[in-house]
Amino acid sequence: MTPERRPLVAANWKMNKTTAEAHEFLGEFLPGVEDVADALDVVVCPPFTALQTVVERTREAPVRVGAQNMHEEDAGAFTGEVSVPMLLELGVEAVILGHSERRQHFAESDAALARKVPRALAAGLVPILCVGETEDEREAEETERKLRQQVQADLAAVDVGQLADVVIAYEPIWAIGTGKTATPDQAQAAIGFVRALVGDRDAGAAQAVRILYGGSVDPSNAAELLGLPDIDGALVGGASLHADRFLAIAAAARA
Ligand code: PEP
Repeated sequence: MTPERRPLVAANWKMNKTTAEAHEFLGEFLPGVEDVADALDVVVCPPFTALQTVVERTREAPVRVGAQNMHEEDAGAFTGEVSVPMLLELGVEAVILGHSERRQHFAESDAALARKVPRALAAGLVPILCVGETEDEREAEETERKLRQQVQADLAAVDVGQLADVVIAYEPIWAIGTGKTATPDQAQAAIGFVRALVGDRDAGAAQAVRILYGGSVDPSNAAELLGLPDIDGALVGGASLHADRFLAIAAAARA
């Protein structure tokens, strides 16, 4: 991590926590977050149903709230979808886009992401764009090809002037929720490669864009991964459901 890039840790709760459970988490989390958030950005991404609660409870806290998906159209016949104006009205400030679970289970495509990322930016939402390879792709030495395809396609319609406002999360799919993490060498190499891909568009943006690692980050491995030069923070799934564990990861990102 470099001094110019402020670290960021984001909690992806996925389809976990009712509103009551979100309240319970915040009761434990908020007293501790003040101690770590002076030097880093903290984002919590609950399910849609808990967004309002989390926005209201964190209004005075150094915590930003993100959604886990959005539709690029403002309104219309898109049953089950949620639009940017709906998120903005709640006070949401960020959105996870292209998580591998959405790509895998809900057919999220690079074509859709190429519309969603600029739409989020235009609205002032921070897009946290997820990219990463499967285990088969890694074994076939296809990691770089996959990352190139996703980064180039998903950011194709983003103006150069806004590239550095995107947050990219490198999440090797084989490491998500599996307890396996990328080795520091693997994580640094992949994230360095993603930074170079941004550099193909603009050298300044490559230096400024924040790139996170995600995939079984927990308090025991966070310091090593987050201490790597190109890694600017973490996108955290399972461990972010526990206030103490997520705070410990935030503290490691800040160190
Ligand atoms: C994720 O869902 O983005 C993630 C990284 O999950 P986990 O930390 O549980 O591997």
